[in-house]
Amino acid sequence: MLYRDWEKASSVAEHLPVGILQIDTEGHCLALNTRAALLLRLPPQKALGSGWLEVLDPESRRAASRHLLECSRGDSPLRLELRLPSEGGDFWVLSCRLVPLRSDEGELRGFLMTLLDVTEWHRTARDLRRTTKELEARVRELDCLFEISRAVERHAGDLDEILKETVSILAHTWSRSGEVCVRITLDGRSYQTSNFASCPQARRAAIFLQGEPAGEIEVGVLGSVSMPDTPRFRPEDEERLLTAVAQRLGRTAERVKGRQLLQEKEEEMRARLTHLTRVSTLGEMASSIAHEVNQPLTAIAAYAQACRRMVEGGQAGQDDILEILARINDEALRAGAIVHRLKDMVRRRDARWTECDVNALVRDIQPLAVVDARLHNVRLHFEFQPDLPPVLADGVQIQQVVLNLIRNAIDAVEETARKDGEVTVRTGLAGAKEIQISVTDNGCGLPEGLDARLFQPFFTTKKGGMGMGLSICKSIASAHGGRILFSRNPGAGMTFRLILPVLDGP
Ligand code: ADP
Repeated sequence: MLYRDWEKASSVAEHLPVGILQIDTEGHCLALNTRAALLLRLPPQKALGSGWLEVLDPESRRAASRHLLECSRGDSPLRLELRLPSEGGDFWVLSCRLVPLRSDEGELRGFLMTLLDVTEWHRTARDLRRTTKELEARVRELDCLFEISRAVERHAGDLDEILKETVSILAHTWSRSGEVCVRITLDGRSYQTSNFASCPQARRAAIFLQGEPAGEIEVGVLGSVSMPDTPRFRPEDEERLLTAVAQRLGRTAERVKGRQLLQEKEEEMRARLTHLTRVSTLGEMASSIAHEVNQPLTAIAAYAQACRRMVEGGQAGQDDILEILARINDEALRAGAIVHRLKDMVRRRDARWTECDVNALVRDIQPLAVVDARLHNVRLHFEFQPDLPPVLADGVQIQQVVLNLIRNAIDAVEETARKDGEVTVRTGLAGAKEIQISVTDNGCGLPEGLDARLFQPFFTTKKGGMGMGLSICKSIASAHGGRILFSRNPGAGMTFRLILPVLDGP
């Protein structure tokens, strides 16, 4: 037994890889091996007596005394960790096992203490804890950014919703050690949690748009609720996270604004193009229109001449003159109406949505279409189904579509050079919720294989054609919630149908 023959045992102890101390009942070191002196960072002589205790840090010293006392009362070994101050405020950590030494009669003779250097293990464990904490903070940071990214995706294009949700995401991810209040201001908008109060230690990050400051995120923690297990953002993490969120919001706002601007420009371009094709359709009808205006003017001139002759001949009664003047008036009104209608169609203006009677819209352009057809030797028929329900539309745009379909039909008939060329325009119901205006011709028809290209911009088979008519017709139809269909007639030619939803249909 070691306590009986320390001399012999000590030579064995010298070769062990652990430190060994023999301690008396008072806690004084009686003997130790070289390894123990090395671990205690003391020359062996200085470790004797109470020397070994004095090198420990105060906390460990008290723990050692407590454990000696406790160990003296039992038979089982005790474990404890002792710390020795090292340079830079750090510690050497020794794992220690304390065994009571008793005589055969059970009387306490002292203790045997073994020491093992576990400093490296401790440092690794401490680094691991620190890394884990950092990782947890990073995960929360990523969580927060990920949630914001999802909100951006979910509310694509709706900046108000994105900002509102970001406020609530920051409020619940920022910290659980206190009540969080958040405010985001951007471009004159402001969103905040209901508990928002400006606090001096709040964190702030500027939001930039096109390199210019345009807003700010402000996050403050009010009061404090202790939740020790919850990983918290460190101050530098908080700053970095807030800057990242501010940058994300800045980029999102720039993108949303860019998209809005693009949409506005696109709408503007579409309106211009719509107007351009309308003017171009009317341009194609220029000679018909001139003819239409010329007719009443010729009639006016003839009536005026007749009237003059009657007055000069002294044979005109007052009634005759009044009647001729009434006819002149009618013809002038007719010419005026055409010019007025033309002016309305040529003028560029914003869309005007009103409740429209489709029959009235078609009747309005009937005279223009009739003279155009006559000029091209095409018979034009109109069949109106009475009492059609109204549609919500921009009347001039609907007239533009119908005129375009009639012009195309006349062109298609002219292409065949047939003598019995005719075009029929019909209005009617297409089911319970839609009305349709169809234009049927017996013209050349559309060659197979071109169907898919029909509505594409700049598709034309005509010499000098622009190929924008049907593409604009399609976008006008869809802006009205409607569509354009086409089919080949059994005999010859094509039928194009403009379908529009009925206003407040069932
Ligand atoms: P454009 O009249 O300038 O050619 P559109 O977009 O109005 O432009 O028409 C595109 C093409 O669709 C025409 O060139 C023609 O080939 C075809 N098309 C349109 N309407 C008819 C029709 N009623 N019959 C046969 N082909 C047609």
